[in-house]
Amino acid sequence: MKAWLDVAVLRCPNCGRLYVETSWYVVEMESDIECGECGNEFNSRKNMLSRALLEFQLDENGEIQNVHVSKRL
Ligand SMILES: [Zn+2]
Repeated sequence: MKAWLDVAVLRCPNCGRLYVETSWYVVEMESDIECGECGNEFNSRKNMLSRALLEFQLDENGEIQNVHVSKRL
């Protein structure tokens, strides 16, 4: 069985730490997030580096077995 998650990669403009968040949170809500490293608050969409669709391989109980990049968006 398979399931998918659309994710975005972000970089804190102050300290450079990288984050991965769900794309709806970044692209549709354009949320601000607070960096856990330096405390800087920044806009997630304006600091997005890339976006991809992850494919999860699941067993019959829905347990995650493996994850890989299905498509770069
Ligand atoms: Zn930071």
